Amino acid sequence: MSLEDLGFDPAKCLIGGAWVAPAGGQTLPLMNPSTGEQIGEIARGQEADVDAAIDAARRAFEGGWARTPAAERGRILMRLGKLVEGRVEALARLEALDVGKPLKQARADALALARYCEFYGGAADKLMGESIPYLDGYTVYTLREPHGVTAHIVPWNYPMQIIGRSVGAALAAGNCCVLKPAEDACLTALAFADLAKEAGLPDGVLNVVPGLGSEAGAALSGHDGIDHISFTGSVATGSMIQMAAARHVKPVTLELGGKSPQLVFEDADLDAALPFLVNAGIQNAGQTCSASSRILVQRKIYDEVTARMAERYGALKVGQAMSDLDVGPLISAKQKGIVAGFLAQGADLEMAAQGVLSDAPEGGNFVAPTLFAGVSADHALARDEIFGPVQVIIPFEDEAEAVAIANGTEYGLVASVWTQNGARQMRLAKAIRAGQVFLNNYGAGGGVELPFGGVGKSGHGREKGFEALYGFTTLKTVAAFHG
Ligand code: NAD
Repeated sequence: MSLEDLGFDPAKCLIGGAWVAPAGGQTLPLMNPSTGEQIGEIARGQEADVDAAIDAARRAFEGGWARTPAAERGRILMRLGKLVEGRVEALARLEALDVGKPLKQARADALALARYCEFYGGAADKLMGESIPYLDGYTVYTLREPHGVTAHIVPWNYPMQIIGRSVGAALAAGNCCVLKPAEDACLTALAFADLAKEAGLPDGVLNVVPGLGSEAGAALSGHDGIDHISFTGSVATGSMIQMAAARHVKPVTLELGGKSPQLVFEDADLDAALPFLVNAGIQNAGQTCSASSRILVQRKIYDEVTARMAERYGALKVGQAMSDLDVGPLISAKQKGIVAGFLAQGADLEMAAQGVLSDAPEGGNFVAPTLFAGVSADHALARDEIFGPVQVIIPFEDEAEAVAIANGTEYGLVASVWTQNGARQMRLAKAIRAGQVFLNNYGAGGGVELPFGGVGKSGHGREKGFEALYGFTTLKTVAAFHG
C-alpha cells in the first residue's frame, strides 16, 4: 500500500462511517522521517471535529453496539484481524514511510495488530460478572458493562500495537471509540479504521480524528461527552490529560514513559543475555516506552559485558526505513534535536561504542546508536528518558546496590534480571518496583496476552491481556431481595 493506493484521503477524518474534511479545512504536513521530505498532508482536526466524532460514537453506542451480542462483536473483531493479517506487508510499508520504522519491525507491529484483534475478538464473549454468596433471601451478582464512549490518544512510536491493545479491548467490551492518533503518525490508524469498515464494524463505532495534541487531543481529553480516556504518551502530556479528565471526573488509563533497567549478575548466561541487552535499547531507534536504557552490570563481569555490548554496537547499521537495517531514523527533526541534546550532556562520559550510519540520506532524522560505559546512577543520561538509541552501563557491587539503582528513578515500567540463581530471581521479582519484571529475558516476545502498564510516573491502569477488558468496563452490582 503506497500513499497513492490508499482507499481514503489521509487529509480527512473518519466520523460516523464517512470520510470528512476537518471542519476548519486545515491540514498538517505528512513527513518522511527517512528523508526529511514532505510527502503529503493529513487532517488537522479540531474541536468541532472532536464534537462530531463524540456525537457519532454516542449514537452508535446507544443505537446498538453495546447491545450487539458479545459473540458478534468478537466475530467482527476477528474478521478485522484476518483483514489486517492479509495486509501486513502493505501496513508495514505505510508505517515505515510514515514513522521511519525498519520494515521488519513494522511487519511485527502489523502482525501484533492482527493478533490483538484476534485475542480481543475471542475474549469478547468471555467477559463475565460473578454471583456473590450473600445473606439469606438475597441474590447478588455483578454485571460488566462498557463505559460508553472511550477516547484513545496514542503516540507515534508504535501506532499499530497501541491501537490494537487499546481500541481492540475497548471495542470487545462494547464501547464506541474516538481515536486521536499522533500528528506524526496517523496513516496506519486511518488504514485500520478503513479495514474495520470492511470487516463490518457499524458506522460510528470507531471514529478517527487526526490533529495536534494541543487542539484535537486537548478537545477530546477535556470533553464531557466521553466516558473514559486511554492515553499512551509522555509524562507531561499524561499529567495534563489526567487534569483535564478530572474536570468532568472521567476515568483515565495512563501508559507513560520509562527508564527501564536490565540487571546483569555475575552468574548470568551472557550468551543468552547479550542480544537482549542491546536490542532492548536500540529497537525502534530507542523510541520505545519500555526501551531498556540502563544496563546494570555486576563489577566482576563489567569489563566483559561492556566489551561484548560495544562489539555489537559497532556492527549496528543505521539507515532509511525501506532499506530495513538495524536502526531507522528518529520520528522527527525535533526528536533528533532532543537526543542530540542528551548526547551533548554525555560529552564527559566514556563512549564505549557507536553504530554506523549506512544508508542515511542527508535530510533524514538519523542518530548513531551510542553506548556509554561507567556511568553513575545519578547522571542525567541514567535518570531521564531519552527516547533515542542511547544506553548507559552502570556498574554495581551487590544485589542490594543493584535494587537501589534499579528503583532509583521516578519511573517503574519494565525491568529484567539476568541470573541463574533461582532464589535471587524470586527476591528481585518482588523487590523491583515496576509493572513488569522479566527473568532471563526482556519483554517475553511482547505477547498480547500479557498485561502491561506502569507504576510511579510510568502511569496507572493496565492494557493488554484479559486484564485490559476490566479497565474498559464498569462493574454494576445487582442485589435482589426475594425473601
Ligand atoms: P506525547 O505525549 O507528546 O503525545 C502522545 C499523544 O498525545 C499524541 O497523540 C499527541 O498529539 C497527544 N497530545 C499531546 N499534547 C496533548 C494535550 N495537551 N492534550 C491531549 N493530547 C495531547 O508523547 P509522544 O512524544 O508522542 O510519545 C513519546 C512518549 O510516549 C514517551 O514518553 C514514551 O515513553 C511514551 N510511551 C509510552 C508507552 C507505554 O505503553 N507506557 C508506549 C509508547 C510510548
